[in-house]
Amino acid sequence: MITPRRTRLVRVADLQTFRHIIAALARSAQGTVVVVPTRGAARLLTRTVDADIVTREELYDRLRARLENPPRQLSPLERDVMAQASARAAAAGVRDLSFQLRPGLVAEMLRFYDQLRRQSQQVKRFEELVAEALGSDDVDKAAQRMRVQTRFLADAFRDYERRVRESDGCDEHTLRERLMAEASPNPVRHVLVTIPDWIVDSAGLYQSDFDLLTRIPGLESLDIVSTERVLASGFHERLHTWWPGLEDVSAQDVRVAGLKPCTTYDPEETRRSGSAVDSGSEVVQGFSPARPVLVTQPGAPPDEPWWTLRDREEELVAIARQLKADRRRGESVPLERTAIVYKHPLPYLYAAVEIFGRAGIAYRMSDALPLAAEPTAAALDLVLDAVASRFSRSTIISLLRSPHFVFRSGGPDAAGADSEGGAEITRESVSAFDRALSKARYLGELERLEALAADWEDEASRPALNAALAVARALAPITATHPASQQIGCLHAFWLTHIRPIADDDPFVSRERRARSAIVDMLPSLAAVHAAHGDPDWTIDDLSIAVRRWLEDQTFVPDGDAPRGVHLLDDQAARYGDFDDVAIVGVVDQDWPERPRRNIFYPPALLKALGWPSEKDRRAAADARFLDLLTSARRRTLVSTFTLDEDAIVSRSLQLDEIPRARLSTASREPFEDARVFADEALSLEPLVFDPFEGPARSWAELRTQRSPGDAPDFHGSVHDVAAQAWSVSAIETYLDCPFKFFAQHVLKLEEEPEDEEIMDPRRQGQFVHKVFEEFFAAWQQAGHRAVTPQNLDAAREMFTSVVDRALERLPAAEAGLERTRLLGSPAAAGLGDAVLRMEAERPIAVVERLLEQRLNGNFTFVTAEGQRTIALRGKADRLDLLEDGTFRLIDYKLGWPPQRGRALQLPIYSICAEQKLAGRHGRNWQLSEAAYLAFKGPKRVVPLFATPADRGKVLAEAQQRLAQAVDAIERGEFPPTPDDVWRCETCSFASVCRKDYVGDV
Ligand code: SF4
Repeated sequence: MITPRRTRLVRVADLQTFRHIIAALARSAQGTVVVVPTRGAARLLTRTVDADIVTREELYDRLRARLENPPRQLSPLERDVMAQASARAAAAGVRDLSFQLRPGLVAEMLRFYDQLRRQSQQVKRFEELVAEALGSDDVDKAAQRMRVQTRFLADAFRDYERRVRESDGCDEHTLRERLMAEASPNPVRHVLVTIPDWIVDSAGLYQSDFDLLTRIPGLESLDIVSTERVLASGFHERLHTWWPGLEDVSAQDVRVAGLKPCTTYDPEETRRSGSAVDSGSEVVQGFSPARPVLVTQPGAPPDEPWWTLRDREEELVAIARQLKADRRRGESVPLERTAIVYKHPLPYLYAAVEIFGRAGIAYRMSDALPLAAEPTAAALDLVLDAVASRFSRSTIISLLRSPHFVFRSGGPDAAGADSEGGAEITRESVSAFDRALSKARYLGELERLEALAADWEDEASRPALNAALAVARALAPITATHPASQQIGCLHAFWLTHIRPIADDDPFVSRERRARSAIVDMLPSLAAVHAAHGDPDWTIDDLSIAVRRWLEDQTFVPDGDAPRGVHLLDDQAARYGDFDDVAIVGVVDQDWPERPRRNIFYPPALLKALGWPSEKDRRAAADARFLDLLTSARRRTLVSTFTLDEDAIVSRSLQLDEIPRARLSTASREPFEDARVFADEALSLEPLVFDPFEGPARSWAELRTQRSPGDAPDFHGSVHDVAAQAWSVSAIETYLDCPFKFFAQHVLKLEEEPEDEEIMDPRRQGQFVHKVFEEFFAAWQQAGHRAVTPQNLDAAREMFTSVVDRALERLPAAEAGLERTRLLGSPAAAGLGDAVLRMEAERPIAVVERLLEQRLNGNFTFVTAEGQRTIALRGKADRLDLLEDGTFRLIDYKLGWPPQRGRALQLPIYSICAEQKLAGRHGRNWQLSEAAYLAFKGPKRVVPLFATPADRGKVLAEAQQRLAQAVDAIERGEFPPTPDDVWRCETCSFASVCRKDYVGDV
C-alpha cells in the first residue's frame, strides 16, 4: 500500500530565495532529509541548515540502513569486477563482435546499464526499443553491427543482474526494488529535494529516483525546490509528465507551521563587526533578495561585461589583487563571504595554494582532490613502470631512488633468496649503479642483470645492484601472465615489504597515510573480487590499467583549510552558499556549458529512442543555471575567461553572451595592477618592505637584500681560483663552443646524464672507429708494408676488411651490420675505409713511418699577436704520417661533419705541437705539409685544413690566437653561458644547470 503523502514543487525566483526556503523548510519538520548534488554542497549547507543533508548515493544508503535487515551494498569495485566477468561471458556467446573487451569499455557498459535502469528501463525493453529504432533492414552493415552489439550488451546486463542476485549484496537497482516493496520500521518521513534531474545537473535525480520517492512506504512529505529559470528550461514539463497532479506553489505561498526566523546576513552589520553574524529577522514570506552588481574589467567595452585574462593563474592573481584593493579602500567583507566558482576544480585548487599562499590570503576548499595526483600514487606507478619495462635502467633507478620505499643492500643469499638484512642503500650507490648499467649498455631483463652481477667488480655500486636484483626477482612473476588475484597479490606483497614507514611528525603525515591506506585497502579487495568472479589471466598491462583506473576514481578532501578563508568551489556547490562576492572563473568554451559524457555505444538518434535528452534541452538547462549563478551573490559578481590553457589557445564560452539576460547593473573596477600584493612583490618593488614576513622568513629576506647586486659578475659566469693546468685541446674547443659548458664539464666535472640507446652513442662509435683504424695500420706495418700505393691498394682493402670483421665480432648483430656498412660501404656508396686508403694511395710521396693515436702533451710555443708564448697542453693526434721528403701529414677522423675552418682548433694546434714534438726524430726536423679531416658526414670525405699552401700561415696564426685568448679567459675564470650558436643548447646535457643569460639577447 502506498502511504498518503504531500508532494509539492516549490518555485523560487533566484538562488538567494532558493537557499532561504531550503533553510526554512528543513527547519519546519524534524528529521527532514535534504538531498543536494555533492558533498561540497552539503558542507556549505550545513553552515545554515541543521538537517540530514545527503547526496543521491547517500540518500539510498540512508534508506537502505532503515530496512529491517539491510542488505550489504556492493562496492563499486565489486560491481566493476562482476560486470567484467559478465562481459567476458557474454562475449564468448556472441559472434562477430566488432570491438575488443577492455576494462575501460566495461566501465562504460556498466555506466550505460545504470543509466538505462535509472531511466526506468528494463533490459528487455532496451532490446525492444533498439530493435524498433533499427527497423528490419538486413542489408545495412552498420545496423547489423548495432544488432550484434545490442545482443551482446543485453546478454552481459542479464548476466550481471544474475550475479548481483546470487551475491549477498545489492546494487542501487535491486535496492530500489526492495525499498518500494518493503516497509521500514523507521521510515524517512520528510524529504526535501533541492536538485533537479540529471539533464539539468549531472548529479541530479533520475526518473526512477522520483518514482521511488513517490512510492516508498512511510514517506509523508516530499518537497522539490527549484528556481523558475531551471523549471522553464524543460524541468517543469518533465516533472509534470512523471508526476501528473504535482502541486505547484511559489515561495510566497509557502506557509510553514511554527516557522522560526531564518538566519540571514547583513553586509553592513558584518562590515561593522568584522565577522558574519545572524541578524535573525526574516521569515520565508518576507524575504527579499539583494541585487548584485556586475564588476567589469577596467576599460572593458560595454558589450563585454566579463574579464579576459591570459590564463587560470592570472584569473586568481586578479582576484587576489581585488581582495587586497578592497581592503585598502575599506570595502572588504570577511574573506569567507567571498567565493571563487569554477566548473572543474583542477588546476584552480593547485594554483590557489601557490597564488593565495604568496598573497597571504586564507582560503578553503570544498572539493576533493584526486588521489592519483598524490605522490604516493606516483610511487605505485614507479613499481608498475619498472615491471612494464622489464626493469630497464631508468625505471629501476627511479624506483631505487624513490623516497617512498626502503631498499636494503642485503641482496640474495646463497640460495638466491632475497635477504632482509643489510643497510639501506645510499644515493651515491644508486648513482654509481646507474652509470655502471649505462656503461654495460644494460637495456633491461632480469636475466641480463643477473649475468652482469656474476662479473660485477664495482664495489661502490654493489649495494644498489643487490637491491635491484632483489626488486627484479620479487616483481619478476608479474612480467608473465597469471590470474589477476595472483598478480595483485604479488604487487601488494612488494608494496608492504618496501614502503617506507612514515613518522608521526612528518609534515605530510595525514595526506600520506590517507593515500597509503587507500592503496592498501584497494589491492586486497581487488584481488578478492577477481578471485570470486572468474579470476582472468592478466598481463602487466592489464594489472597497470586496473590499478590506475581505480586510483583515478578515488578522491580525498584536503584538511587544514582556513575556516575563515575565501571559498573555492564548483558551480554545483556554489548554489548552496550565501556570499557577498562571487567570482565565476574559467568561463571558456570547453567547460561552460559542461559537455555531456559521450555515449560510445549508440548515436544520438538511437539514444533519443531510449529516452536520452536532446542537446537543446541540456543547453537550455545549462544557460538557466548560469544565469541563476550570476545573481547568487548579495553584493558583487565578477565573471572571467582566459585565452591560454597551457600552451593552447582557447575560446571564451558562448554562455558569456547570456550575461545581459541577468539584467544586472555594471560597475567598472579601478585598475589596481600596480598594488603590492604578493610576497615576492614586497621584495622586488622599491622600496622593499619586510612587513609580510616574520621569523626565519624575515631574517632570510633581510639577508638577501644585503647580497651582492644581481648584475655582479659572480652571477654571470665569473669564478675565482680556477687552478692553472694543461687543458686538452678538445676541452678548449668546448670552451669556444660555450664557456659554461666547458666549466660544467671540465671544472665542476659534472657527468652527463647517461642515455640508453639500442645502438652505440656517437662517443662510443668514435672510439670504435678509431680503434679499427689503429688496428689496421698496426697490422699493415707489422706485415712489412709502409705506404698504401695504387699497387697494394687491393691488398690493403682486403686486410682492412678482415680487421673490420674481427672487430665487429665484439658488437651485437644489429649494431655490427650498421658499422660494417659505415666502414666497408655498400653497393650505393663507398665506406670510410676506402676513403682513407685511397687518399693515401693517391699521394705521390711515400710514408716512412706512421704514428697512431700520438700523444702531444707538454709545453708548446705559440705565436700570437701579443708575441711568442708558451702554453701547457694535452692532446692526441689520430694519425701522423711521416713522409719521405721530411714533411708529415696529420689526419683527424671525424664521425660527424668536419668543423668550420674558422673555428677549428684541434687540427691546426696539433700541427704546431707535432712539429715541435717531432723535432730531432730520426735526426731531422719535420714540417707539416698537409692536414686534413677524414669526415664521415658531409659532401666530401677528405676535407683539407687549408685550401692552398698560401692559406697555411693564416689558418695556423688565427688558430694560435684563438687558443691563447681562450686559455687566458679560462685563467681569468670567465665562464658565461654564451654558446656560439643557440641551437647548441637543444642537445646540451648541462641545460638544466645553466642560467642562460644569452636568452635576452636572442
Ligand atoms: S645549455 Fe647552452 S648556454 Fe647552457 S651550457 Fe649548454 S650550450 Fe651553454
